Amino acid sequence: MRSFFAHIPKELWRSYQWQIQSRIKTKEELKRFINLRKEEEEGIDKTAGKYPMAITPYYLSLIDPKDPKDPIRLQAIPRAVEVDEEIQAHGEEDPFREEGEIPGLTHRYPDRVLFTLTSFCAVYCRHCMRKRIFQEGERARTKEEIDQFLDYLRGREEVREVILSGGEPLSVSKEKLQYILSKIREIPHVEIIRIATRLPVLAPQRFFDEDLLDLLEKHSPIWINTHFNHPKEITQESAEAIEKLLRRGIPVNNQTVLLKGINDNPETMLELMRGLLRIKVRPVYLFHCDPIKGAIHFRTNIEKGIQIMEYLRGRIGGMGIPIYALDLPGGKGKVPISSNYLIHQEGSKYIFRSPFGDKVEYYVEVF
Ligand SMILES: *Cc1c(COP(=O)(O)O)cnc(C)c1O
Ligand code: SF4
Repeated sequence: MRSFFAHIPKELWRSYQWQIQSRIKTKEELKRFINLRKEEEEGIDKTAGKYPMAITPYYLSLIDPKDPKDPIRLQAIPRAVEVDEEIQAHGEEDPFREEGEIPGLTHRYPDRVLFTLTSFCAVYCRHCMRKRIFQEGERARTKEEIDQFLDYLRGREEVREVILSGGEPLSVSKEKLQYILSKIREIPHVEIIRIATRLPVLAPQRFFDEDLLDLLEKHSPIWINTHFNHPKEITQESAEAIEKLLRRGIPVNNQTVLLKGINDNPETMLELMRGLLRIKVRPVYLFHCDPIKGAIHFRTNIEKGIQIMEYLRGRIGGMGIPIYALDLPGGKGKVPISSNYLIHQEGSKYIFRSPFGDKVEYYVEVF
């Protein structure tokens, strides 16, 4: 696919603004690059106004146009199944009750608050857990809304970490970002700022901007959580973006979502985790796919996730093994789903199952 863009000068291709301005948002534009399948053409028509489409040239260039099951294609191009009656009858728009009194703010754990800065994304991922927010159109929080959030934050001394999320928090102007980061930094009880951004995957060019990197570095400690789902997303450009962040002292962690037909296979997941370690991104979570209206077709059962986790154990170092977790409905919090390696206990004798399938006795006497 990259060959379609071979005529684009390097400076443009490496410009985030160009990537955003050149996003493919209509069926007609997309058809110039790729032979759409019937369910995709229908998907684009039927999801219009409900679940918008936008694809950066960069992300589009990763698709193998000959492969109808290409994992980038499945994440980016709408399919009719999203609005299928049966799919629509399941799941909820906001199963976690994120919407509260202050626009964009969710305060679920005492020490962490989450604030969504935009309803804009570089690419609208078809599996997005916040699909609901893109119906209102693309916008960033106003200064008034940000001030309302900051006021709330000032009054909550138990909060140590602010999570800026979206949409895409790093799509706001540098002026707005400077404003919000510097105001958060004036609040003494906030220790950590976490930015949940998928730009390293969807438009890594964002991080080729030294002014943005200056701004992030200046407000340290900032941690980035990103969202790689498939080894194909690990490219020279995404690796370059990560390298630039790391050089500025910004650690990058990853959250993957377990998605049917995209990464629900042990080999793919192992390859993804190995790829992440190669570019020095630490995989933190593998999330079970949430019950989101319009994205239910991406769900697998929980056994699949456990099987993948067991496959990883023993095949990659501990740094490359994320925590498999799910978000409980009603905003009850995230919980790890763990396989049991301790299979029996009797007094001081414990029996474990090894990563290689052996049964091993282990004795603990505590004095
Ligand atoms: C996921 C989430 C967090 C962060 O949880 P971690 O386990 O720290 O990643 C915080 N607040 C809300 C509302 C969340 O949904
Ligand atoms: S980048 Fe994140 S918030 Fe935006 S559409 Fe994709 S998953 Fe949703």
